[in-house]
Amino acid sequence: MNAPQPTLPIRAVIAPVTPLQQNCTIVWCVKTMKAAVIDPGGEVPRLLQALKDQGLTLEKIWITHGHLDHAGGTAALKEATGAPIEGPHPDDAFWIEDIESSGARWGMPDARSFIPDRWLQDGDVVTLGETEFEVIHCPGHTPGHVVFFHRQARFAQVGDVLFQGSIGRTDFPRGNHADLIASITKKLWPLGEDVRFVPGHGPMSTFGQERRSNPFVADAVLADE
Ligand SMILES: [Zn+2]
Ligand SMILES: [Zn+2]
Repeated sequence: MNAPQPTLPIRAVIAPVTPLQQNCTIVWCVKTMKAAVIDPGGEVPRLLQALKDQGLTLEKIWITHGHLDHAGGTAALKEATGAPIEGPHPDDAFWIEDIESSGARWGMPDARSFIPDRWLQDGDVVTLGETEFEVIHCPGHTPGHVVFFHRQARFAQVGDVLFQGSIGRTDFPRGNHADLIASITKKLWPLGEDVRFVPGHGPMSTFGQERRSNPFVADAVLADE
């Protein structure tokens, strides 16, 4: 007989949405089958179907930051389910207010602004079923960007802070390159090299892999600066 597998309290599936192929993620508490949708940028009917296919009940809507491709479908998902919106940090309020006009520019006319039921701060904890995620404020790409971290599962959803082989843009209003580098090296790296993360776009990676090979934030690259 095989040894029993250590059972993790959460599972996750990635559902890329919008023309920007943003990594919307459905995470759930395995014990209760209660789910959170992280960053519902759009395509809400497809997300509702995915929840149904997995037999999940939506309990929370979590937002990493206020950009259109991450948050454009939030209002519609809340209307369809009644689930409360948690996040981002209040410094992203100006981005959320901009969702409608940027939606018109980007060919996503259904995108709508909203007011979160709960703004998040660094160190907050958000619950999901019988488990919980830690909230880490990681400014730089946007001033109110947050990361959701599940310590036991060694899993993080980092939005547009960090990508496999790249980092978030900082040329938007109130973007800040030094803040972004500090968020990555002082707040994400200490969580551990084994942490697997879903970035806002593109494939998953681990913090350890990025510390070795990311051309912007690898340990060797930053040591040379
Ligand atoms: Zn973004
Ligand atoms: Zn994005």
